[in-house]
Amino acid sequence: MNSIKRSSLLLSVFGFALLAYVPERAPSYGADPSRPNILFVFSDDHAYQAISAYDAKLLQTPNIDRIAEQGMRFNRCLVPNSICGPSRATILTGKYNHLNGFFNNSNSRFDGTQMTFPKLMQKAGYQTAIIGKWHLVTDPTGFDYWEILPGQGVYYNPPMIRDGERINHEGYTTDIITNSAIDWLKNQRDSDKPFVLMCQHKAPHRPWEPNLKYLGHDGDRKYPEPDTLFDDYSGRGVAERDQDMTIEKTMNARDLKLTPPPNLTPDQQKTWDAYYEPRNEAFRKADPQGKDLVRWKYNRYMHDYLGSIKSVDEGVGRLLDYLKETGLDKNTIVVYSSDQGFYLGEHGWFDKRWIFEESLRTPLLVRWPGVTKPGSVNNDLVSNLDFGATFLDAAGLPVPEEMQGRSLVPLLKGEAVQDWRKSFYYHYYEFPGPHSVRKHYGVVTDRYKLVHFYEPDVDYWELFDMQADPKELKSFYGQTAYALVQQRLKGELARLRQDLKVPDQDPIESIIGPRGRGAR
Ligand code: CA
Repeated sequence: MNSIKRSSLLLSVFGFALLAYVPERAPSYGADPSRPNILFVFSDDHAYQAISAYDAKLLQTPNIDRIAEQGMRFNRCLVPNSICGPSRATILTGKYNHLNGFFNNSNSRFDGTQMTFPKLMQKAGYQTAIIGKWHLVTDPTGFDYWEILPGQGVYYNPPMIRDGERINHEGYTTDIITNSAIDWLKNQRDSDKPFVLMCQHKAPHRPWEPNLKYLGHDGDRKYPEPDTLFDDYSGRGVAERDQDMTIEKTMNARDLKLTPPPNLTPDQQKTWDAYYEPRNEAFRKADPQGKDLVRWKYNRYMHDYLGSIKSVDEGVGRLLDYLKETGLDKNTIVVYSSDQGFYLGEHGWFDKRWIFEESLRTPLLVRWPGVTKPGSVNNDLVSNLDFGATFLDAAGLPVPEEMQGRSLVPLLKGEAVQDWRKSFYYHYYEFPGPHSVRKHYGVVTDRYKLVHFYEPDVDYWELFDMQADPKELKSFYGQTAYALVQQRLKGELARLRQDLKVPDQDPIESIIGPRGRGAR
């Protein structure tokens, strides 16, 4: 039966009400508001301190800020385990790592047979695509289209894997990922279906190499230093003192651009050398020492890290412009987030991993036209655990019981949710491992953090009061004035561990070194 005959039949059956019925395929643009499209732009190690919607002192990010201006800025989006792979596994599954099985970047492999939100959305008729950094070792599942960087990926001339096939690119990786995302929206997706597109950047992950066209972006600016750049870690324990993530000691020649990346083309190399060589020469000649050397390293770090974000921001702008040009913007939820926070010299550090604020908090900005009030701000304890539940709920789909996150849709609608979580459980496992941050778990509230550092050679507690000590420089654990708070937090921690089904002993899969035993 052709479409005209079918329409005639329908008209005769249903009469006048169907005169407005359009028999041919209407250009839907995902126009059904009950099934909005979702564009999830995700970066790696992007500190909220480097997004001007949160803090404008280091960098302007006008395009990422557009999402905040047109939607909601979440001020406390927390991650359950502040490290790349585990965070990604949590987003896909809506579960803590002890349930999704991906504990660390050293030996975990994502079990792609388990439930994920892309699979559920695909099953419900959404078209699903992921382009960019994946970093979960096994091939993506639940996607109609995937094009990923192998492993960590590189910043220039990246190989990528498209549906299992290796492809070589020339150019800057952030631009290539944005181009691929726009190409998929323009030429490859089925415009009759709503979509979930995950556009996932490598930037600004270590070694934070900028787009060559932005090498001169800051005019050799001297960056404001964090108050704690020269933290001596007094007032806290051995874990904070013995880590390996300081700007002073841990940054290497590649991080500091004293040696170039190995895979530049001759033209790229020329541009690289023209920027870095004279500056490196001046540095060698000046030969700064002590604190001056740390200051030089910090400035070089900021130039490169922030420089690599410029292209992420530009890519967000190009995607937003494309949505607007095509009318897709009206029915597309746009989300910007990162897999965790990052240190930009606070406590003398770079990297992440800690329960402490700069590491624990990740940016979250959401634009949802007609639903979320432009320019709104939320201070609830939300998490990337909640992303999967949110996307399913926004699409009108049920959220599986087994997901441990909760839909943010009521918050995005501006509703006050009385029973929203007031405490949050955190657990970091990767020790021994890169940067030597000891295993720890703890509970976080709007004001306090209670932390237990454990294994293999430490066993101590800390208590932080972010009202009395916003920079988290001193543990109040064991002090009489905090006895009641401490007792209450211990109770809350026990309750959370039980509710979230945290095993008493770390699962064997989480153990990465000979010294890492499960017992605590
Ligand atoms: Ca990361």
